Amino acid sequence: MTELSIQYLVSGGVITNYNCPSRCGHCLYNCGPHRSKDYLDADTAKDIFRCIADLGCRSVHIGGGEPLLDVEKLLEVLEVADNIGVAIDYVETNSSWFKDQHHAASLLNRLLAVGVDTLLVSISPFHNAHIPYSRVQGVLDACQSSGMQVFPWKSDFIPDIRAMDENQTHSMADFEKAFGPNYLQSTLERYWIHLGGRALTTMAHAYPLYSVEEIMEKSPANCANSLADTSHFHIDLYGKYIPGLCAGLVIDMNDLGRPLSPGKYPLLEQLTAGGINELHNLASNEFGFSPQKKDYLNHCELCTEIRCFLINDSKLQFRELNPGGFYAEFAR
Ligand code: SF4
Ligand code: SF4
Repeated sequence: MTELSIQYLVSGGVITNYNCPSRCGHCLYNCGPHRSKDYLDADTAKDIFRCIADLGCRSVHIGGGEPLLDVEKLLEVLEVADNIGVAIDYVETNSSWFKDQHHAASLLNRLLAVGVDTLLVSISPFHNAHIPYSRVQGVLDACQSSGMQVFPWKSDFIPDIRAMDENQTHSMADFEKAFGPNYLQSTLERYWIHLGGRALTTMAHAYPLYSVEEIMEKSPANCANSLADTSHFHIDLYGKYIPGLCAGLVIDMNDLGRPLSPGKYPLLEQLTAGGINELHNLASNEFGFSPQKKDYLNHCELCTEIRCFLINDSKLQFRELNPGGFYAEFAR
């Protein structure tokens, strides 16, 4: 039996919160204004950064949700990281908080003072559906004046976005009207999007779909490599480690560094050993799952639907399915 064991962490981030003023169509973690306002506290942050350092990783990024929704708590988290010796690669932001240059510069100076020297600024048509570009430009200007480095993700989209009213938000339909009906398709070629979370719904019409039988046939024999991949790991504000990019699946961070107990993580055990086929067999044979759709984008969409079914059955309790707010998005 293949075992899942996370022995070391290569590169990743800490999710401070799932709440976000935006609700982007590609968001892997289903973040948005409807999500809990919980924010990573200093004690949990201490445990998380110790765990990260113990597993060999010396620097992480900070992401969300929108981390800058609570600046005081973010600063506490950053101080904890500094005390433990984990460096911050960058803090992600969608710029929703921008009011004016004075306010932005003073906020950035506070980040600089605790050792943050780079801000990842989100720039994409998906983000522009919720945040006018004028705020993003305001943050870019404030970074320049305060000496904060910018990691623009991605500046390639700036000309498209600026071609429209910078003080307004624009839907994908607006972009398609301005740049042609294939704009979503072309966006996918210019931007890295992982097909999980909300992207499963948003991208459904941009890709070919497959029947359950086809999915079972063409999917990898198991998910061991995806689940064990620590090259872009995340640990969230509840101290839960998200294996690979499999949003909605979690491992208690205290269980990292040794093989997972199959009794505690039965779904991860099945996925590690036999991928979507094993999960589907288990869910169908043991719990009465039947697919709700005719066709699916990929095995991860079917996996998400099965997990949704399992978490919504009040008689079942899988602690590896978390947080509940992720699954509420797909409630059926
Ligand atoms: S992608 Fe980022 S900005 Fe968009 S909803 Fe998710 S966390 Fe918020
Ligand atoms: S099928 Fe599930 S476990 Fe496998 S890679 Fe996709 S989301 Fe992860």
